[in-house]
Amino acid sequence: MPQGDVVASLEAELPQGAVLTDPDLVERYRHDRALTITPGQPRAVVRATCTADVQTTLRLASRFGVPVVTRGAGTGLSGGSAAIDGCITLSTERMRSITVDPAAMVATVQPGLLNAEVKAAVARYGLWYPPDPSSFEICSIGGNLATNAGGLCCVKYGVTTDYVLGLEVVLVDGRAVRLGGRTVKDVAGYDLKRLFVGSEGTLGVITEATLRLRPRPAAMCTMAAMFPDVVDAGRAVTKIASSMRPAGLEMMDSAAIAAVERVKPMGIGPDVGALLIGQSDVGADEVSFMAEACEKAGASEVHVTDDPDEGELFMGARRMAIPCVERLGAVLIEDVGVPIPEIPALIAEVGVVAQRRSTAIPVIGHAGDGNFHPLVTYDAGDPTATERAAIAFDEIIRAALALGGTITGEHGVGMLKASHLGAQLGPVATELTQAIKYALDPQGILNPGKWA
Ligand SMILES: Cc1cc2nc3c(=O)[nH]c(=O)nc-3n(C[C@H](O)[C@H](O)[C@H](O)COP(=O)(O)OP(=O)(O)OC[C@H]3O[C@@H](n4cnc5c(N)ncnc54)[C@H](O)[C@@H]3O)c2cc1C
Repeated sequence: MPQGDVVASLEAELPQGAVLTDPDLVERYRHDRALTITPGQPRAVVRATCTADVQTTLRLASRFGVPVVTRGAGTGLSGGSAAIDGCITLSTERMRSITVDPAAMVATVQPGLLNAEVKAAVARYGLWYPPDPSSFEICSIGGNLATNAGGLCCVKYGVTTDYVLGLEVVLVDGRAVRLGGRTVKDVAGYDLKRLFVGSEGTLGVITEATLRLRPRPAAMCTMAAMFPDVVDAGRAVTKIASSMRPAGLEMMDSAAIAAVERVKPMGIGPDVGALLIGQSDVGADEVSFMAEACEKAGASEVHVTDDPDEGELFMGARRMAIPCVERLGAVLIEDVGVPIPEIPALIAEVGVVAQRRSTAIPVIGHAGDGNFHPLVTYDAGDPTATERAAIAFDEIIRAALALGGTITGEHGVGMLKASHLGAQLGPVATELTQAIKYALDPQGILNPGKWA
């Protein structure tokens, strides 16, 4: 290792004010939203303003062998941007430029912009950037790219990677590389940009992205169906999702509804076991099909509206579910996914786990994708309750894998699920993953201790 101090070198080479070491300021950059993870203590935070700042940071980090944790807005739910001891936390929050090319239907963005800011900027041209995590007003586009974020409209419009035409990435040695470009079709060589989408800061730092846009969709028609039984709601999802592609198909069970009712009353009573919200931007026929499927599956009440504001009341309530449940106490947020036909089995299994471990587990989900967020709640002051919650969390992961599913549909592996990744990948895919990681980050300084 070279003589000297990495922080002094960063301060010498980066613009004034880019490097924070004041413990009170650094504290704001330690956590993400995986509240059960205890982060480490960074030695400094770098607030990059341009690609060159990122290059300098990674070049010096490599020279001194110091770990780098890249951070967007810190809304991640898996500890991906949580600090580790002695790291440099590299924040992209000041990288905020955007240019929209309406003729090419693309936007070129820096990573620090919020998802909502990208949506608003392209909407001025009558265009739409579809990926819409529930956190879209508070998460960065860089974080979305690095986690391959999903959301509510992904059942029809796909996830973040489906909108990435090109990337600029800074590699661990400080070199910047452009991958892909602005063309809609491009099969020249390996699709390296996709390797970085969803790589959670373990392979390089995304400093710019060229995103594909769509025309603004038509206004939504919405269906809200109440079920006495949550597994019946799962059956309705299976029927709908195997027959059509709604613009959104979201679910909340009774405990999640109750948590939202406390904050934003919708007038849904405790006798309702589950709420299924379906949306269509095609028209009334699709909504009628969904309503009929729900009635046949046992819905006790189905409400249909073509008023976008009324529809948004239901979807808005669904988006609030995680923060509302978090108000009730400590929560381990699951993010498992299963093939569409296995949805009822997964929901039933979550109920079994909740009973076996005496732990309340409200369930919400991007039901049309088979991506569910069982919210394992517990009393953090009670060690046995904490232990039971951890066991329940693992049991749900194992249940999803046994059903042919995934340990994470959109939140990423991060610290939270690092120990489960091998079980999903198996030995050969794990070896491939490690080979890629080593090829791109031979010292292992990019987000170490996370998943790779
Ligand atoms: C209430 C709530 C609801 C949510 N709903 C959804 C949802 O519906 N769908 C969904 O997918 N997620 C959801 N999330 C999770 C979270 O918002 C997403 O994972 C989001 O993409 C994270 O963005 P961020 O800017 O906060 O990233 P951070 O949390 O800062 O970082 C996330 C990961 O990306 C890496 N990273 C960040 N920027 C870069 C970069 N420029 N280059 C390389 N690596 C980078 C970090 O190292 C880390 O591993 C929700 C979170 C909350 C709190």
